[in-house]
Amino acid sequence: MREIAEFRVDEDFAPRLLSENEGKRLGDSIRRVELATNDPRFERIGELQRETRAKTDRSFFYGWHIRRRYTKEELVSAKCLQLAVTAVFEPAGEECGTEYDEATACSNCGAGAAQVSDLYLDLRKAPKNRDIARTIADEIIVSQRLAEKMIDAGVTGFQFRPVRHKARYEDEPVDLHQVPTGREILRRAEEAGFPHPTGKFYVWLNRAENRVLFEQARAENATLKGEEDRRKGKPMPIWYQLVVTATDAEIVPPTRVGIDPFDDDPKGECRCPLGDLIGLNLLSEVSIRAASRGDTDIVASRQFIGTRRGVLRPRRAILISPRMWRLIESEKLRGIQIEVAHLA
Ligand SMILES: [Zn+2]
Repeated sequence: MREIAEFRVDEDFAPRLLSENEGKRLGDSIRRVELATNDPRFERIGELQRETRAKTDRSFFYGWHIRRRYTKEELVSAKCLQLAVTAVFEPAGEECGTEYDEATACSNCGAGAAQVSDLYLDLRKAPKNRDIARTIADEIIVSQRLAEKMIDAGVTGFQFRPVRHKARYEDEPVDLHQVPTGREILRRAEEAGFPHPTGKFYVWLNRAENRVLFEQARAENATLKGEEDRRKGKPMPIWYQLVVTATDAEIVPPTRVGIDPFDDDPKGECRCPLGDLIGLNLLSEVSIRAASRGDTDIVASRQFIGTRRGVLRPRRAILISPRMWRLIESEKLRGIQIEVAHLA
């Protein structure tokens, strides 16, 4: 495994570490530079950060990001992997009408509020040409294509929930029981083993071969409701919310969680004393207590990482089985980062 750290360095201080042509200038004031974490200068960045902050009200670096590169053998032989969704978009569900029950969240850190409505998003903002993405509040969505693959492969440990476009409130929901083709759809779905109203039903319904029927049912519904002049807008892309149902994976040492690669948050400013929120950022690969792993293809950590602020919500780490990894690998998914995770 090769670990590469990227930093956004303040141009005024960059000459203290970097040669004139090193890195990439982003405008006049920031330089982006990449260093392997085993490069001796990596630790020097941490020292410069402390020195700069002690002497000025500025920072040596602002943003940072760590990437881990693996050989094929390392990935193939891993017993457990971490899936991070890197395709991120706004606005968050809460800004589009998704409801959370804050009373169910930790009273100390605010992590873990239950989502109590379907996920409403502005789907025009969801990334194009991606099969998986998440909002800034860590609401994860997957495409119809990936949803079909996951169901066909029998992947376990999750549910799909419908994702609704926020502007569609005026779009009449189709009551399938009320129209002839709707009743035919319900009958066929039952026959195919995808009974209404399970999450699998909606994936089945949105399959290309069933869309025609659904459009027919929708047309009948429109006629029924006397709305023949329904707008013929371009249809919104179809997404599902990925809800990981197993959330027992216990993150254990030597996992590092902290503020940045040189700050493990020794005072615990970003940790919850109740043990649910364990810090602001993951700083290392994840280790999970083996006994808490369970046997599903997807499992989320019990603990949260991040912060509860504005519409931001702490996230759980997502672990996947080698089988799920092979599915992802064969689909060449973009917008994700895969790391090896360890069972302790
Ligand atoms: Zn808490």
